[in-house]
Amino acid sequence: MTVEELIVYGKKYTSSTHAKMLLANFLEVNPLELLTILDKVVEEDKVNLYKEALLALSENRPIQYVIGHVNFYGLKFKVNENVLIPRFETEELVENIKNYLENKNITNPKILDLGCGSGVIGLTLKHFFPDSLVTLVDISEEALIVAEDNAKTLGLDANFIKSDWFSNVPIDKYDVITSNPPYIMTDEEIEEIVKNNEPHLALYGGIDGLDCYRNILKDINNYLKDDYLIAFEIGYLEGSALKELINNTIPNSKVTIKKDLSNKDRMLFVEKNID
Ligand code: GLN
Repeated sequence: MTVEELIVYGKKYTSSTHAKMLLANFLEVNPLELLTILDKVVEEDKVNLYKEALLALSENRPIQYVIGHVNFYGLKFKVNENVLIPRFETEELVENIKNYLENKNITNPKILDLGCGSGVIGLTLKHFFPDSLVTLVDISEEALIVAEDNAKTLGLDANFIKSDWFSNVPIDKYDVITSNPPYIMTDEEIEEIVKNNEPHLALYGGIDGLDCYRNILKDINNYLKDDYLIAFEIGYLEGSALKELINNTIPNSKVTIKKDLSNKDRMLFVEKNID
């Protein structure tokens, strides 16, 4: 079959955009380039992979898992059902951490990424700050396998620890502690495709969504340098409750809540208070 025929075929199973994304993935071209090769005859094995992938999409599996990788901040990360699919909001979190380090002129920070999943936060920071020391932590062995695989493919050196938050993390002092922990509230409505496919271990954070932050905050004071940044991704309704929690646990700190591009509270930063 030709590229053009395969696109038409794909539209019976999914949107035109997703059909083109899949086909482009198997042909290893940019989706826009498909238009320039409409008459190309595609090899049998690639046609079969494409058809299998279309079936998976028609069964409501997320395209990121079907393709097996995503672009995050310009880097290619492998993903599978054992890790969350990275969101744009998390790119914004990384951007804020990057700006903080650049403004402070810290080129060799010690960074801890708690609940790293596929490793997008910690590894992207390692990419931008090659002299940093990055430690990635997750309770899930399967997630750590994905993160380590990503580090290898991207040629990035990092430490990996299997741990329930700080429980197995040796005491050390970090410039940056970051986390995008599970923060969906038990009764919160979320999209079906998320609920049915992404790991619940990485999504749900208890009745008020704050269980994981509580766990992190109970030990965090032992792990912070004098000058530090804590960078959390948060649920859009959780900012003020989490701020209060932090005011009670980290003395003399300054808390800033930031909105994402959809104008929802999405990030919370804690720094030493210098006022
Ligand atoms: N942002 C994700 C969602 O909307 C949740 C991520 C998380 O719980 N850390 O589904």
